Amino acid sequence: MSAPHCTTCPYCGVGCGVAVTTQGDGISVSGDATHPANGGRLCVKGSALAETLDLQGRLLQPQVDGHQVDWPQALETVARRFAQIIAQHGPQAVAFYASGQLLTEDYYVANKLMKGFIGAANIDTNSRLCMASAVVGYKRAFGGDAVPCSYQDVELTDVAILCGSNAAWAHPILYQRLMRARQQRPAMKVVVIDPRATASCDDADLHLALRPGSDAALFNGALHWLAQQGLLDETFLQRHTEGASAALQAAQAWTPQRVAQYCQLPLAQVTAFFHLLAEAKNWLTLYSMGVNQSSSGADKCNAIINLHLAGGRIGRAGCGPFSLTGQPNAMGGREVGGLANQLAAHMGFGEEEVDRVRRFWQAPNIARRPGLNAVDLFRAVADGTVKAVWIMGTNPVVSLPDADRVRQALKECPLVVVSEVMADTDTAALAHIRLPALAWGEKEGSVTNSERCISRQRAFLPPPGEARADWWILSQVAQRMGYGAAFDYRHPAEIFSEHAALSGFENQGTRAFDISGLAGLDRQAWRQMTPLQWPVNAQYPTGCQRLFADGRFFHPDGKARLLPIAPRLPQHAPTLRYPLVLNTGRIRDQWHTMTRTGKTARLMRHISEPFCALHPQDAAALDIADGELTRLATRHGWMIARAQLTTDQRRGSVFVPMHWNDRFTAQGRVDSLIPPVVDALSGQPESKHAPVRVSRW
Ligand code: SF4
Repeated sequence: MSAPHCTTCPYCGVGCGVAVTTQGDGISVSGDATHPANGGRLCVKGSALAETLDLQGRLLQPQVDGHQVDWPQALETVARRFAQIIAQHGPQAVAFYASGQLLTEDYYVANKLMKGFIGAANIDTNSRLCMASAVVGYKRAFGGDAVPCSYQDVELTDVAILCGSNAAWAHPILYQRLMRARQQRPAMKVVVIDPRATASCDDADLHLALRPGSDAALFNGALHWLAQQGLLDETFLQRHTEGASAALQAAQAWTPQRVAQYCQLPLAQVTAFFHLLAEAKNWLTLYSMGVNQSSSGADKCNAIINLHLAGGRIGRAGCGPFSLTGQPNAMGGREVGGLANQLAAHMGFGEEEVDRVRRFWQAPNIARRPGLNAVDLFRAVADGTVKAVWIMGTNPVVSLPDADRVRQALKECPLVVVSEVMADTDTAALAHIRLPALAWGEKEGSVTNSERCISRQRAFLPPPGEARADWWILSQVAQRMGYGAAFDYRHPAEIFSEHAALSGFENQGTRAFDISGLAGLDRQAWRQMTPLQWPVNAQYPTGCQRLFADGRFFHPDGKARLLPIAPRLPQHAPTLRYPLVLNTGRIRDQWHTMTRTGKTARLMRHISEPFCALHPQDAAALDIADGELTRLATRHGWMIARAQLTTDQRRGSVFVPMHWNDRFTAQGRVDSLIPPVVDALSGQPESKHAPVRVSRW
């Protein structure tokens, strides 16, 4: 038996450490007891990882126009066709669409190629669908995209508020950590704010099943009520913040009575929540897609942050506004500039920052303005503005809103390149060029989890067939496009070191992301790197558990900002024709579009087909019985799902899981029903709220 390889789980943003043991042909996985995220525990998905490692369905050879080719031919073709389109139509005619599944080193090279050398910022990522609103919230409040908290805060808080988060299913190990802490400290309270009664409510002290999309009013109400009781932290506000008066003025209309009416909650529940806040020393708000996936997602995030700033519940143990990311490396993507509105190392498109990155990269064609975010990017493919798109490690034909339109756009796009692990995804089926990528267990790099902890993903399997690392594929194409020396990488450690150096380049402590202490790591040191939370620099040589302990933020004056928040309901209200509200989300045992978790029988046993959760009274009005097939339709598309009647649903709303796709079931892609409505500030789609009609199939 070999010594265990320590790596990280490829699924959710908790980022658990995984110990992999190989013996002969057998591979087993267990939790890595040394990893700070999970201390040896794995959830059901993580513990089934060894069952997903077979090569069935894998893409193992490059393909161009349906023919298998060797790597030189594939790389030449990608470089030539991209260069032709750029020469004819300019750099804005091409785009990359990446993924929170990519490792930081892959992401870094993709971003550098597009923004520094091709000269457009048209690289966005499926992380746009998961946490773009949280990024805007943090940047507006703190002056930087900086998650203040640590997982340890879950154990130290007095009130844990899960808002728009079914952590019990979507972030299971973190939720279990919370539950264990609560057993040890029974005085700790757990509040769940969610229109649905999810598994996370099972042990909650208070569940606020509010009207979908009304969260900001609840947090405004809490801010106003605490102010009225004289329970704000006036010293903190005065010393460390700006904007409190305007935020309080915007909140003052939100009396408990008005909050109860607007959020459609019993007044007693609203006041019970406010009293819990008043009585507790520490509060921690854990928020996720239910907050972010909204046409006012950024404002909801700032309503949460306002409350923490005004209460002085930030920068100390057990406190803070804590955005939980969905993917294993959503945070790494943020760090390297994987979002179209960021440059690299958390820098934006201000003239000085653009010039700084240009000089560091010695980039000939630096992008000077933000590019297209995910929804706009595929709109631009549809209208022919973007004529070449390279999609890496993601399946937008299943996961983007208005997914049928995305499929049609890709069908008509002159050049679609897909880097993929699997041969037959709904998106790969539309590619002119398919490039076989390495999967988890085969690739080497780093990821950052929700608490800013950078961990290594390590290979323990040889590359199968002709599959190659994404950073290598991108570098080879870049070299063939004439950008040679800047992409002459031989090993991912060189890329990580460059990324770390850029984070510290001319950084006077004004940028949140700084891992300059890791610049210059050689291969050996990078191989052995143990998990640590950024920043890692001269001030924090071994990382930093909790940000803002000194009350200094990243705005130039060192102060945080409270913002006046005017709550808004979702953009499209139900109508006579589409009278219910469709909400989408994860289930416990599946991951994204099921390319990996769909392989294991024991994970499929939990829930084996798409379902539509309905309140029994809504079902009765529609003459739908439990277990019957239903047809769900919106203005954008339709699907079939089996009715599941449950009082866990609010009346008037239905829930459908996001995972199913054409590989598993006919007419089962829920995102084909979701309108392409986005938050104007974050570009994040409103995937939690689509007016829908449900009928018997
Ligand atoms: Fe993997 Fe998330 Fe489960 Fe941890 S909680 S084992 S990271 S899926």
